[in-house]
Formats: sequence, structure tokens, C-alpha cells
Amino acid sequence: MTIILMRTATAGALAAQADNLPLQPQSAGQILCAGILGNGVARLEEAVRLKIPFVLDNPAQRRNRDMMAQRQQLNERLMAEKAERILLRAYEKAGGSVPDKITLQFRALSAVEHLKQQTLQQGLLVYSQKLLFDASLPLEARLGLFKSMKVDEFEPHSASVALAVGRLPSLPAYTVADLIRSFDHTWRPLSFRLDGGLTSWIETAKPWLVEFPLPSLLASEMARADQFDATGYSENATLGLGFFLLSFDEKRNYFDIVTPYLFATRLRRDQEVPMRYSKYYKLEQQHSVTTSYRQLAELTHGAGRKKLARLEVCSKCGTIFSKDRADLAHPSC
Ligand SMILES: [Zn+2]
Repeated sequence: MTIILMRTATAGALAAQADNLPLQPQSAGQILCAGILGNGVARLEEAVRLKIPFVLDNPAQRRNRDMMAQRQQLNERLMAEKAERILLRAYEKAGGSVPDKITLQFRALSAVEHLKQQTLQQGLLVYSQKLLFDASLPLEARLGLFKSMKVDEFEPHSASVALAVGRLPSLPAYTVADLIRSFDHTWRPLSFRLDGGLTSWIETAKPWLVEFPLPSLLASEMARADQFDATGYSENATLGLGFFLLSFDEKRNYFDIVTPYLFATRLRRDQEVPMRYSKYYKLEQQHSVTTSYRQLAELTHGAGRKKLARLEVCSKCGTIFSKDRADLAHPSC
């Protein structure tokens, strides 16, 4: 995963070199790592060890650009400090004249600008949900990583960062399996076709669970939504849960995509009122003429398909479970 960051860093370093700045790809990687992860991860090596899920999500390729507006926020101050130290070392090592402090700072800022441009152009991001719901890391460590992504001088740039700094209430659960088990009548459908409730839809549809879909999968947009907006009078947050449920209607040749997500809002002047989540799931359909349909068909029917888990509902106790995943197992009752 870190290879994705390295690629962006290399492109940034080459652009900086063309601009006569002595910036090596490795150093560019360290600067970019600090820019994205803040002080929480001191070095790129640490990001590799923690398997930070970097991903490319080019906003120009998305259907709903508002929904997935570029949400990368770089800690440019931290980047500039690091770049200054790195460039100074490079000039000293080269043995020529070392630029004065002001010149060095300007050059550091130019290096940062090259990295920033590459980051935004390529859409380099941390895959929030993949990190937030990664059961292999203790919850505190996961939230700590998001906390350090908050840039001091700005409002949180995403719901996951807002959550980590205490601007949003705790989530109903912190793993995909626990989130699925939390589905009950408090989750509200946004389509009359799901009026019978999510559990009864799962019972009939026996959907596939598509977990942490790649951004290139068009149907993943809502699952990957991670927005926090505190620019107006109100505060709003939308957080997808990193998965959607998928079923195929053979008769009508449709894919049904059911995506659960959380929404929270409040007027700022009412800040005393605690924020609460509204829990929704929306239904989308993809017909065979759409690109999204073809992508989904490849996922579920195609040659190189990954094995997706299917969800079922226990007819005795109503528990949602899967025979294909240990964390969703349900011993017969
Ligand atoms: Zn049961």
C-alpha cells in the first residue's frame, strides 16, 4: 500500500529535480508521509509497518464529484519544516555553497508545492474506512492515527478525523462484522423497496458483502464517503462504512446495491445539544447498460473474481451471519 505513496513521492521528486531542487524520491516520501499522517507516524518505515492503506482516488474520474470532493488535507507547515532540513542536508553533502535561510525556506516551499500538486492530481489519500475498521489494530491506535491527521489551523477535513478529535459521537461499532450485526430497526431505508427492513431484505436477497471496494469501482462511492463540513452555520458529517451489500436480480437483470452510512448534523448555535447519528441505508440499482453494472458483474461472475462472502439471516433468531467469514459465523441455535 505504501508503494502508492512512493509513486506519488517519486513523481513529486522528479518534478522538483526539474526545478533544480536536490530532492530524492526517498526524502520526498518522508515529506509526503508527514504531510498526510502528521506527527502520528514519524517516518515512512513506520507507515509501512502499520500498513497504512494509501489509495489513489482521482476526483476527475468520479460520477458524483461533490460527494467525493478531494478531501486530502496536507499539513504543509510540517512538510515545509521537513523539506527545509532535507534540502539543507543535500546542499551540505553536495559540498557547494549552502543557500541562506530565506532562500532555503523558499526552496523548501517549492518542493512542498511539487509534492502537493502530485498528491492532488493523483488523488492520493488514506482509505479512511479501511484504517478505521481495521480490527488488527487496537481502536485507540486507529483513532490516534486519524487524530494526528488533523491540521491544527483548520477544521477537521473528514468525518473520520472529526470523530478522532471528539467532534462526532462514537460509532455504533468499529469493525465491519460488528457493524453488520448492529443492523436493526434503528437503521432507516431510503427506498420504499426496503421498507420491510434491512434484515428481511438480506433474508431474501442473500447479498454478497463487498468490503473495502477500490475507488475505481463506481458503486463504492457511498461506502467510501467521509465528509465533515463545518464551514456554514451548521456542522454535517457523512460517513460510509467501507462496504456495500450486492445482490443480482436475474429476472430483471439488475444489480441491487445497498449501502449503509451514517449522517450527523447540528446547528452550531445549538452546540450544547449532543450530536447523534442517523443511520441510513440507500438502495441503488445498476442495469446492464452502465459501467458500474459491468464492474459488478466482473466482481461476482467474472473470471478473476475474488471470493465474496454471502450474508444470510438465521431463521430461528434473526442474526445476520455468513458461512464464508469467521468473524460473521453463527453457530446453529
Ligand atoms: Zn440463530
